[in-house]
Formats: sequence, structure tokens, C-alpha cells
Amino acid sequence: MEPRDALYRFLFENTAVRGEIVQLDNTWRAVLERHDYPPAVRRILGELMAAAALLSATLKFSGALVMQVQSNGPVRLLVVECSADLGMRATAKWDGEIPDTATLTDLVGDGHFAITLDPGEGKKPYQGIVALEGGNIAAVLENYMRRSEQLDTRLILAADDWTASGMLLQKLPGVTEHDLDAWNRIDHLGATLKAEELLGLPVYALLRRLFGEETVRLFDPSPVCFRCSCSAERVGAMLRMMGRDEVLAVLAEKSEMEVRCEFCNQVYRYDAIDAGQLFATDIPTPAGATRH
Ligand SMILES: [Zn+2]
Repeated sequence: MEPRDALYRFLFENTAVRGEIVQLDNTWRAVLERHDYPPAVRRILGELMAAAALLSATLKFSGALVMQVQSNGPVRLLVVECSADLGMRATAKWDGEIPDTATLTDLVGDGHFAITLDPGEGKKPYQGIVALEGGNIAAVLENYMRRSEQLDTRLILAADDWTASGMLLQKLPGVTEHDLDAWNRIDHLGATLKAEELLGLPVYALLRRLFGEETVRLFDPSPVCFRCSCSAERVGAMLRMMGRDEVLAVLAEKSEMEVRCEFCNQVYRYDAIDAGQLFATDIPTPAGATRH
């Protein structure tokens, strides 16, 4: 099958219900090939990735949507970022052996889940705190959308070793009884979607199978890709935040300092000359930093 990596938006004609489907092939594999995630972590990270693309596409903003879970459980960190033009990156950190059957609650049950909208350009980010209630990523985010955005939302998410996919159905606010009936009917149909259909079927076939009796208007898809926003400039800024003394202390022990991007594995190397340039006030970027 050709890689899909696309997000489709659709509307149900004459109702206040909208939907989206995302199917990530290369985007998801680009995440998987960079770290050897245990299967249970892979599943949750894939679901989170599909969810981030779906939610980001419901928003009107330029910048990045960041979903981040931090916990003291076996999985310490899950991060997924999606830019307004659907460039995505994701990573996870875990400790020890993770059983294949571990659930979201087992892995990050005590965790802190935040959704951040970073408008970029130095503007203030908006952050929402998500209660980790519901047992899986879809239920957790449905609860969040209902509580914080007052939007009835149905999410169906699935991930395997090749594809991460999701479908979102949403009732727009301020609806009539006619719209409520339509929502109940469409939500009911949507809930019958199986993981293997979501992962494997082309979008047209999927919509026909679920909503054959409805009038669906499908819009042109938007491409999604893996893209890491790390750069020598950003790493340099981070090292400047660490401070000259700290950086020089590391370089006193080793001739070279390595900074590895957790998302894409890109390595940025700094030696004493690079560090000197980094902390020279008139040279803002580490021109001598080499990429490997
Ligand atoms: Zn990177």
C-alpha cells in the first residue's frame, strides 16, 4: 500500500456534525525507527500522535500543539508535537521492562497531562490540563473536550507497527434538536468503527462503510509529515541557558560535548572553540557546531 500520511476533513450535510480522519504511515514509521519502543508504549504513542493531528486540525491557529504526559510510572514522558501545517514529531521515555498488556493507567496513571498551544513568534502559550481519566487516550481526550471546550467529541484511535490512525467526530456548539438527532445517529455509527478498518481501509471506503446512508462532503486531504524542529541555533540557545561555567565544566572533562535530539536523534557536537563562539556576545549562533 502507498503511504497515506494525510488528514481528511468532512461534513455531514445539513447537520452540525463534522469529522476528520488521519492515517499516518511514513510519519509514524519515522518515529518508530528512531527508538525501539516497547509494544505497549508504541500503541499509546501512536494513538497520541493520531489524536494530536486530529485536534490540531480542529483549531484555527498558527504555531504548534504539544501534548505532553509526565509521570512517575514506568513511562516517564510522552511528547507529541504537531505544527499548524501538520509537521509532526514524537518521543517517549520509559524505565525497565514494560509488559505488552500494560494499559495507559498502568504506564502513566499518576501522570500530569498537558496540552499546550504555542502560537510562536514570542506570543504567550495557552495550556490546558487534561485529567487522565477514562483508561485510554481516546476516552481521556473525549472527557477533556467535553469539559474544557464544551464540545461533544468522539475519538477512535489505533496504532500498529506500520500505521497510526484516528477518526474524530464532533458536534458543533449551539445546535437544534434536529442536529442532536443527527449527532446521536452519526456518533452511534462512528462507534462501530473497528481498529483494523481505521488502520487499513482507504478513507473513501471507510466513510462508505460507516456512513453510507448519510450525505458526507469530503474535502481535499492535507498532507502530514515527520518534521523535527531542532536546530544548531536552538541547541545553542539551550546551552547558553545552561551557562558558560556548566558548559566549560563538561568540556574540561571531555574534548567534545554531544547533544542528541530526543525526537530525531540528530547529534550536535561542541568543542572548546564552538563553546567560545557560543558565549561570545557578538556571535549569536554556534557557526562552528558540526552536524553528524
Ligand atoms: Zn530533532
